[in-house]
Amino acid sequence: MKKAKDILISNNVVRAVLVVAVLLTLIAVTLVVSRHAKIENNSDAEHKSLVVVESGDTLSKLLIDQGLTNNDVLQIAKVLKSDADISGLRADKDKIEFVRPDETEPVSKIVIIPSPWRQIEVTCNDSGEWQCKTVDIERDTRVVHKTGEILDGDSFYLAGMRAGIPAGILAEVYDLLAFEMDFERDVRAGQKFSVLYEENFSDGKKIDNGRVLAIEFEALRGKVKMYRFKTTDGKTGYYDENGNGAIKSLKRTPINNAKVTSSFSNSRKHPVLGYTRAHKGVDFRASTGTPIPAAGAGRVVARGYNNGHGNYVKIRHNASYETLYAHMSRFAKGVVVGTNVKQGQTIGYVGSTGLSTGPHLHYEIIKDGKHVNPLTVKLPAISNLGKADKERFLDYRKAIDEGIEQLEKNPDWFIQL
Ligand SMILES: [Zn+2]
Repeated sequence: MKKAKDILISNNVVRAVLVVAVLLTLIAVTLVVSRHAKIENNSDAEHKSLVVVESGDTLSKLLIDQGLTNNDVLQIAKVLKSDADISGLRADKDKIEFVRPDETEPVSKIVIIPSPWRQIEVTCNDSGEWQCKTVDIERDTRVVHKTGEILDGDSFYLAGMRAGIPAGILAEVYDLLAFEMDFERDVRAGQKFSVLYEENFSDGKKIDNGRVLAIEFEALRGKVKMYRFKTTDGKTGYYDENGNGAIKSLKRTPINNAKVTSSFSNSRKHPVLGYTRAHKGVDFRASTGTPIPAAGAGRVVARGYNNGHGNYVKIRHNASYETLYAHMSRFAKGVVVGTNVKQGQTIGYVGSTGLSTGPHLHYEIIKDGKHVNPLTVKLPAISNLGKADKERFLDYRKAIDEGIEQLEKNPDWFIQL
């Protein structure tokens, strides 16, 4: 099954179509095979006890509690630092298993479990020296496909939850689609969507979710498709069905799930001033204190206060594009004129300063010095594929589409990686 992993991770596309096709015919078998039960070794009389690290716990305290000597503690701390790069324990995250040959004997093995996918085994040899080795837990990754439909009065989140898509995956999908769609105006009852993503199992038990591999959404202006793909130089990104970068330089809606309360317009009646004037941005309703993420990477070129915008931040993204965020209650710490910000980095917090009737984000996109409608302006993609990668991508996409087609017909199936 190693080859299948190569396809989805490193896109060994020469083999992609074939292996995926073979895989799909094997799915029925895999379903049975992967249901094998965990075999318990009953002849093993080892005594094990598991401790979840709590706040205030230290490695030495936990080891002393288990009857280890000060000398053991020093040695164990030393090998953990030099061989596993572990110098402290994290409360509520790390677990430690203590193993004894039987209940009455001293601890012979200590297993530190920092994540479901990694264990550090510390054992004592015959001459009383402690040693440690790191064991990577093998992941059994399955690719699953879920489809959903927007119902009357629904949100994308509700429809996604109903389709059985885990919240974390849904949030990631939302973030990706937010580059391409305006959820306020593009979501209608009857629209269908689907997500192809990974689930990680260990010993037949689901541990966590992996990556989002493909998304499809029937938006008003046509199908939005995204595929996760790794280029020959090792960069991973999301691409549309033609191999164009799906991640845009700017997000249309910086705050996820915020309702549009006022659209871009060349003439609207101003709610505070009372007379008609252009509304050069889009207003998103959000409560005071909601973090405002930068719509794209760039440099802060203005941060200040004026009567209309209240507290505002302006970011220059490249030679053409700038974005402006107004009515902030406060600025994010460390964000000043000249600061370089990443896409998604918090630059300030929602408020109602300046000419504003209530807490909201007023968001502007300025292209070549002219205000444009953030919800409709055509935004440049961050990266496009070169010729060779594009050909590989198209083969890969074909294989993925065929896989999706099979999974659509058989919703209980999954692809074993
Ligand atoms: Zn506004």
